[in-house]
Amino acid sequence: MVSPEHIPGDGSHIGRYLGHGIGALRQEDPDLYRLLELEHDRQRQTLSLVASCGITDPSVLAVTGASIVNVTAEGYPGNRYHAGCRYVDEVERLAIERTKQVFGAKYVNVQPHCASFANHTVMQAVLDPGDTIVGMALDQGGHLTHGSPVNLSGKLFTVHAYGLDEHGVIDYTHMAELARTHRPKLIVCGTTSYPRTIDFDRIRAIADSVGAYVLADVTHIAGLIAAGLHASPIDAAHFTTTCTFKQLYGPRGGLIMMGRDAEALAADGKRTLSQRIQSAVFPMMQGSPEVHTIAAKARAMGRLLDPAFRELAERIQANASALARALTAHGYDVIGGGTDNHIVLFRAPEKLNGLIAERALEACDILVNKNKIPGDTRSATVASGVRLGSNTVALRGLGPSEMDTCAELLHAVLDAVEPGDGGAFHLDDAVRTQVSAEVRRLCRDFPLPYDPAPSADLVGAGTEH
Ligand SMILES: *Cc1c(COP(=O)(O)O)cnc(C)c1O
Repeated sequence: MVSPEHIPGDGSHIGRYLGHGIGALRQEDPDLYRLLELEHDRQRQTLSLVASCGITDPSVLAVTGASIVNVTAEGYPGNRYHAGCRYVDEVERLAIERTKQVFGAKYVNVQPHCASFANHTVMQAVLDPGDTIVGMALDQGGHLTHGSPVNLSGKLFTVHAYGLDEHGVIDYTHMAELARTHRPKLIVCGTTSYPRTIDFDRIRAIADSVGAYVLADVTHIAGLIAAGLHASPIDAAHFTTTCTFKQLYGPRGGLIMMGRDAEALAADGKRTLSQRIQSAVFPMMQGSPEVHTIAAKARAMGRLLDPAFRELAERIQANASALARALTAHGYDVIGGGTDNHIVLFRAPEKLNGLIAERALEACDILVNKNKIPGDTRSATVASGVRLGSNTVALRGLGPSEMDTCAELLHAVLDAVEPGDGGAFHLDDAVRTQVSAEVRRLCRDFPLPYDPAPSADLVGAGTEH
């Protein structure tokens, strides 16, 4: 908790400015203010097991609302196209230094607006249109920007996609075959729904055998990597990208990082790989950076450097393992046989599909997402699987024994729900009431950080259905 002398008073210009902003919003635009308040309460009162979510720390949010946003700062620290950049230069240097420290990186670019942009930027730095890349198929757990046909990455480049083997593990043998046959310039790895450890060294060895670069997009597991709980790709890959809002609990934004290859010469022999990234971010892909977001990244990195983060990361992992175990005990088919990270992917019961499971659970204030599973014949908007993640429940302070409770609640709903046409379903009122009440109890006992009155107004709250 923040001690009272740190709550900004009359002596703090920035604090009063931010406070004025909220007051003005409430007075001048009550409609929007009400929606923001409702959204805030929705987050407090629901149990989010959405794997691609985190909770941005209030101190990070305060930074994103600060007046530093007013600075237009094209270029890099010490080399801008506008005056007035003295402090944004210091802030950007701070964000870079802290990020280097968190990830043990030699080069960091903190300007990418998001992880998708970071991936496109790496591709623009080292590829020409028409070049060949190898990436993970979207429906196997890759990301759109890894070469999906509906994404720019799939339109600009010739893509050969790998996926999972029959055990649900990345098919490194197929990746190596694709590399041998098609001689790609880039191999993209990193996943959105993969519960197992990624072998970055093995991927680098495959890439080296054909002279390809490796891009590791670690968006989903960046927090575990920062905490040393998953092998780091910083040196194994040429380029590592991530967003900052999922497992790093920071602002919405992206990063590009490099390790031992930062000073390696690019194929043209003239510039280093990190110099190519610098000019690919600006001026090739982006204009002025979001300086408030860069400041918020610095704040998020500061929090990651606090030893307390390792405890959180350990709880993320322990919770996911406990969830996987408990669901297996309830008879669910957990894909990959368990989890090494924050993700648990399981097959929805035979009578249901992913969409109905997601909707029925949301009716009881438990948030998950439908997800395709290996060999899935359903479309991504229906899907046969359910993906869970433990980032938010770990932040709330729930531990492995509460994961048993969560698994029981999930099972109570999925067992009781009766499918209707399309995405419709019927859920017994008694089950819904009982599970919602239990969810409210968990949210009250394990409030989000800085929840001002966790016990008072959560009793009997609940969402409108
Ligand atoms: C979420 C995700 C992204 C997209 O991140 P944005 O910052 O929203 O662009 C990219 N790659 C992977 C692997 C992701 O999981």
